[in-house]
Amino acid sequence: MQIYNQLKRRKEEFKPIKPGQVKLYACGPTVYSYFHIGNARAFVTFDVLRRYLEFRGYKVDYVQNITDIDDKIIAQSIDEGIPFSEIAAKYSRAFVEDSTALGIKTPTHQPKATDVIEDIIAAIAAQIEKGYAYEAQGDVYFDTSALPEYGTLSGKKVEDQMAGARVEENLRKRNPADFTLWKASKPGEPVWPSPWGEGRPGWHTECVVMSRKYLGETFDIHGGGIDLIFPHHENELAQALALSGKPLANYWMHNGFLNIDGEKMSKSLKNFFTARDILKEYSAEAIRFFFLSKHYRSPIDFSREIIEESERAVANFYSALKCVDYKGITAIPDDSCNQHKEAFIQAMDDDLNTAKALAVLFELAHQAKNTQLPQPQREQAALLLVQLGQVLGFFQDLASKLCDSLPNLSRQLIELLVHYRDQARANKDWALSDRIRDDLAALGIELKDTPEGCAWNLKE
Ligand code: AMP
Ligand code: ZN
Repeated sequence: MQIYNQLKRRKEEFKPIKPGQVKLYACGPTVYSYFHIGNARAFVTFDVLRRYLEFRGYKVDYVQNITDIDDKIIAQSIDEGIPFSEIAAKYSRAFVEDSTALGIKTPTHQPKATDVIEDIIAAIAAQIEKGYAYEAQGDVYFDTSALPEYGTLSGKKVEDQMAGARVEENLRKRNPADFTLWKASKPGEPVWPSPWGEGRPGWHTECVVMSRKYLGETFDIHGGGIDLIFPHHENELAQALALSGKPLANYWMHNGFLNIDGEKMSKSLKNFFTARDILKEYSAEAIRFFFLSKHYRSPIDFSREIIEESERAVANFYSALKCVDYKGITAIPDDSCNQHKEAFIQAMDDDLNTAKALAVLFELAHQAKNTQLPQPQREQAALLLVQLGQVLGFFQDLASKLCDSLPNLSRQLIELLVHYRDQARANKDWALSDRIRDDLAALGIELKDTPEGCAWNLKE
């Protein structure tokens, strides 16, 4: 698999540190409001990466943090007149709800910054000790001049960093490019005790500490939106190098922006729609289709017309599934199916070319609907459409949708397959029996072998 690595600024062959395992970290939200549909693009991108890696047989350890202490949360708590911890709890809950509604699979770990304050303090103390950070009147800053590699990820030279580093008049910093690891608190702000007095951590330190805590000193992939390359990811990498001399991650992936009227959708520009509101108008599958119809690194313009088109495209997938009569299904892929699967893998292996992968799904839907084709070929196409569609996060509640539309036929079909599988087992044809079980599982049908025979169930 090739992925575009920001560290090298080119596509590279993906080689995990441990064969068969991928350790992935993607920056999560700062929980001071509902997330917008631009943020959703980032969350869906890394959900699809995770699902695809799993489909390719990797065990994926996926960590997505929740930033629950930040200036913006404090400002919001003053605005809403409720304590900052309640603001963070309210929008953390909303984040989980809205992610689930978008069909995003729960990450393996979802740590909160406030749960790792002790680790953060230890990491900052270690950076001071090693000569990469300094204290100034209760603040702690990273000394960018101490790290020759600073700027490697973003490719920015020191002069550009100074120009780009939103240099507020801050006389405590030795150098305008230096960044905050620990902030002395102002009156009324949430505080934690530390060796430098009461204060709170900086965002860049939160992420580097959470990723290393759950995934180790160097992990496989670090991701986020393109706006995070500088300064956030550059500053995470700098701290990792300061702490261990080792890179934080081997591959750095960044999704492009969701724009609106040619500008980045963002809270600060107030040109956003929350995912929560958009989900009231359109299905999660249509929103995912809308994102995935463009390459994840390209910008996308928010467009209701295109989301509506996406809604129709998803409906076309479902109608392809419904119009297949599943009688006589054998679940043994024919050649044309293998070709489609190969084409899907080839597309996704090319730095997640989801647009091409969707074209394969279209082709399968077309085949499933084509009454000129032999029935088994149509059925195979429908089955593969489901299997590959699920890799992109579609058809997640297919079991109920299929059973709603074809209750009797579904039951008969399942029983027929279970019967074939029993025969395969009697003939010790374990490969066929496993295949039937796996293909049914892909449709949301779970088989359990009991002393009384094989029982089936629809997965929740
Ligand atoms: P934030 O809560 O602002 O830290 O953002 C959460 C994630 O959304 C980060 O990975 C950002 O890079 C990403 N993001 C923010 N705005 C956009 C946008 N308009 N389009 C795509 N990704 C975005
Ligand atoms: Zn982060």
